[in-house]
Amino acid sequence: MISDLYINLMIILAFAGVLMAFLMWAVHSEQYKQYRIRTPKTYRIPKSKKYKNVALNMLQSVIIIFGVLYTFQDFLVYEDGTKEVSGILVLGEVLAALLLYDFLYYFMHRGSHNPKVMKFVHGTHHYVRFPTALESIYVHPIEGAAGLLLLMFSIGVVGPVSVLSMTIIFFIHTTVNILVHSNLELPHPIFRLFNFWALKHDIHHGKHLNKNYASIAPFWDFLFDTYG
Ligand SMILES: [Zn+2]
Ligand SMILES: [Zn+2]
Repeated sequence: MISDLYINLMIILAFAGVLMAFLMWAVHSEQYKQYRIRTPKTYRIPKSKKYKNVALNMLQSVIIIFGVLYTFQDFLVYEDGTKEVSGILVLGEVLAALLLYDFLYYFMHRGSHNPKVMKFVHGTHHYVRFPTALESIYVHPIEGAAGLLLLMFSIGVVGPVSVLSMTIIFFIHTTVNILVHSNLELPHPIFRLFNFWALKHDIHHGKHLNKNYASIAPFWDFLFDTYG
């Protein structure tokens, strides 16, 4: 049921908060600080400014997600029972929506490195030279809104999708955005994908601002020769 989707999305947002809190604890803890990808001498952004931006972006995200879902529900999601939902269908919907999103995001992100857009919008996020999980949503509100609207648009183009597919798409999108900013490279092979994401995006914040624009898969950066 569609009402389940609203509950699922709220659970995902709550999980995102817990994951961010855990990764923030880990990156500053004695136990895990040896696994930091890079350590700054000082953090550039005052804590109060950071918390204010993050809180406002969280609020804005909730309004956009539920507002767009409520307004464009018929384009985005279908009720359970209107179609037979198989595993293959869910996999297809999830992969198609996320690949399209990542493709469009690549261009949006690359475009936002235009000096003017950088100065007024994307520069807020890049002011963070040593990202941690909390800075995954330290962005200009325009950038936060644009990213979410792009995801909703991609789902609308592919969709409408099932309640389960929508839940998985949001879970992956939210979790990956937090993990890429973790600043942690954990030693066990089980964390290979986690480390791949964190290292890839750390390069974008540190050494090479003109590399690794895509957020989820490396394809688009390979294809357009910006993988680094
Ligand atoms: Zn960037
Ligand atoms: Zn970032």
